Amino acid sequence: MNESNGLQRLDALINRLIDSDQTGEEVAPFDLARELGEIRAQLMAMPVVHRSTADQRHYRCEACGTIVHGDGVPGSCPRCSATALVNVDIRPTGVDAG
Ligand SMILES: [Zn+2]
Repeated sequence: MNESNGLQRLDALINRLIDSDQTGEEVAPFDLARELGEIRAQLMAMPVVHRSTADQRHYRCEACGTIVHGDGVPGSCPRCSATALVNVDIRPTGVDAG
């Protein structure tokens, strides 16, 4: 099978569709559906990011890679329930650069 990740496969599929539009070469709908289904499964298995809505800090689950946002270290990972979450803020909060 193919070792590319879901995003690479999605890009390849987009390129195939663009080629198809330009060359008139048909892409079978069933093949497309199957490829998209496999890509979806791969994307679902990737680490999750829980998006921040405010100026929150970032924490990464050391067990599964999920990124969680919050004002303090979460008690447990919302995805796998592990309790080892580490702060992974790129820039410390409370530092005013300007
Ligand atoms: Zn986790």
